[in-house]
Amino acid sequence: MAVKAVLQDLITNPDRLKDLMDEAKELAFQHGILMRTHETPNSSEVVTYIPFTLFPSPVPKAAYLQALAVQTHFNTLVDKISRDPDFLEEALAGTIQADDFTAKLFGIYRQVQREGQTQSIVMGLNRSDYMLDHREDGTSFLKQIEINTIAAGGFGVSDRLSLVHRHVLRLVGLLEESESVPDTTSRTARLGAALAKGWELYGQQKAVILFLVEEVQISKLSHRCIERELWNRNIAVIRRRFEEVSRRGSLDGDKKLFIDGLEVAVVYYRYGYMPDHYTEETWDARLLMERSLAVKCPDISTHLAGTKKVQQVLAKPGVLERFFPDQPEVVEQIRATFAGLYTLDMGPEGDQTVAMALAAPDRFVLKPQREGGGNNIYGSEICDVLQGVKDSAERMAYILMDKIHPAPVQNYLLRRDAPHRVTNCLSELGMLGAYVRQGEDMMMNECMGHVLRTKSSEHSDGGVAAVAVLDEPLLV
Ligand code: ADP
Ligand code: MG
Repeated sequence: MAVKAVLQDLITNPDRLKDLMDEAKELAFQHGILMRTHETPNSSEVVTYIPFTLFPSPVPKAAYLQALAVQTHFNTLVDKISRDPDFLEEALAGTIQADDFTAKLFGIYRQVQREGQTQSIVMGLNRSDYMLDHREDGTSFLKQIEINTIAAGGFGVSDRLSLVHRHVLRLVGLLEESESVPDTTSRTARLGAALAKGWELYGQQKAVILFLVEEVQISKLSHRCIERELWNRNIAVIRRRFEEVSRRGSLDGDKKLFIDGLEVAVVYYRYGYMPDHYTEETWDARLLMERSLAVKCPDISTHLAGTKKVQQVLAKPGVLERFFPDQPEVVEQIRATFAGLYTLDMGPEGDQTVAMALAAPDRFVLKPQREGGGNNIYGSEICDVLQGVKDSAERMAYILMDKIHPAPVQNYLLRRDAPHRVTNCLSELGMLGAYVRQGEDMMMNECMGHVLRTKSSEHSDGGVAAVAVLDEPLLV
């Protein structure tokens, strides 16, 4: 491949390589691909480029189009799961015995169910993540790693990385290849349009969209991109932390949510997906928002639909058919992206999973019900963990998944203060989708485009969130 040849050439020509890297970083600055620094995460006085790859990474066009085409079906699936209390109760019955965090979320879910949902407008903003499973015969298959139904990111200031990568390809003489990097410049605008739709349906001109954010705001500049889309439509955005909602938020007699005298039309969670995001006090804030009339992105049932346990249950025979009874082609399209997923619930099936994992741990990934990267268990550690929990209900906190093996590709990972050396890399392709439903009517269901993240294959066992840099696909 042409990029490969250029890369080999650059390895032997350090001066040219340095010039190219410098120019790539300068392009990133020109296009505003910026983040705050870890040293001063709450200040915009010093910013740096968001780590990214020097070159775009090859992604087979067929796999890319497959991920694009299936996204609206995943949106529909998440929505249908969120509306199916029997399914959620059954799927998560074991998990909530073993995992406190899921149990806490489920407690809120049950309370909202009991009280009766107040808001018929529902919205989801998902990212379905994939890796390409590479087989010895050279073929590769698109396999879903997970679906994120809360706080999915990767867009915002990075929307113009596709332009940087096109330019880098041109700089090394790959003019034709530069046309094969898909455009991503409109994805945040389209995601903003989905939030705007939720706000519009809520129907209160003066009401605001509340971004629920964290204390350490390193990616604030990316949030600002969505905020700008909303302000451009004359929709006011406020940013608040859980603690602030807890202290200053309230519901009126109609369950309208107010904070600091402002009515909230939409709560957009950019936080709240990990146990340490909560304290006793702030669990109350989550409950307050869930019980309210505000449109939640996502609501608690949609959040639960994105758990790894639900993902595993969906892969069982016949389960997708429950959600798409008359659409075998949709079932087929979704199922084609599933890797092997195995239950660890108590019983003979779970026992079989334990035996299988202990016999060949390198074939699998053991996953707890956690988000945000760095929680999965690999290799011999799978045996250590399973030996400890295999005879108790604790094992139901996990699921087991086939390990996916993408083909490594050489690239340079540009990261501030890190040595730039040629690196074997693995990529993860995410597809962003959004939907808005009002009662029985789907008002919007779209795929907003992709996010590609790439990490060193040395970190094949680490999550992309922690170790990956931004990338763009070069369709081949
Ligand atoms: P999280 O919610 O923490 O992001 P993921 O399921 O996405 O959890 O896993 C984190 C990372 O672990 C992924 O980004 C990927 O790099 C790696 N990973 C997860 N599942 C697999 C798998 N089945 N095969 C290979 N790598 C995986
Ligand atoms: Mg992930």
